[in-house]
Amino acid sequence: MTGTSMRAGDALLVVDVQNDFCPGGALPVDDGHAVVPVLNHWIGTATDANLPVILSRDWHPVDHVSFHTRGGPWPVHCVQDSWGAAFHPELRIPDKAVRVSKGGHFERDAYSAFDGTGLAHWLRRRRVRRLWLGGLAEDVCVYHTALDARRHGLVTHLLLAATRPVFADRQQECHRALREAGVILIAGQ
Ligand SMILES: [Zn+2]
Repeated sequence: MTGTSMRAGDALLVVDVQNDFCPGGALPVDDGHAVVPVLNHWIGTATDANLPVILSRDWHPVDHVSFHTRGGPWPVHCVQDSWGAAFHPELRIPDKAVRVSKGGHFERDAYSAFDGTGLAHWLRRRRVRRLWLGGLAEDVCVYHTALDARRHGLVTHLLLAATRPVFADRQQECHRALREAGVILIAGQ
């Protein structure tokens, strides 16, 4: 079992903590905003240790294929440059944070922060071997991002206090699948 503290070779990945995924947004996750103070704590830890902090964001063009208006599974959300696509205003984003935008193709959706972004390549170049992640939503974008992190050979820690599901009834199944893939689930802060 690995420890629960960050060290050289680690990076923090904050997945899609955007207005539309928080209460008041277009596709709100129950209690979604509650991840912000927890993630701020981890951002502080990573920044103090001079480790990379990466923020992914859902960043869709108008008329994106995932929207109800196109027959997709989701309401219109995270349209590029809209208020809903902005990071939560209380998220303490370090100056040096790396932004990764996904879902920018009209005809194709991307749940994982690794999907079509080149993030795995960048992490390799930075010699990152272990990833710590949280954000929204636990059973969709965080889930697929964690699985991709494992596929890219990263030791992957999911911070349970820093994530919330959009479908709460899927949470246990998600945890089981993540554990099976070798993702380390970190309880508490
Ligand atoms: Zn989306």
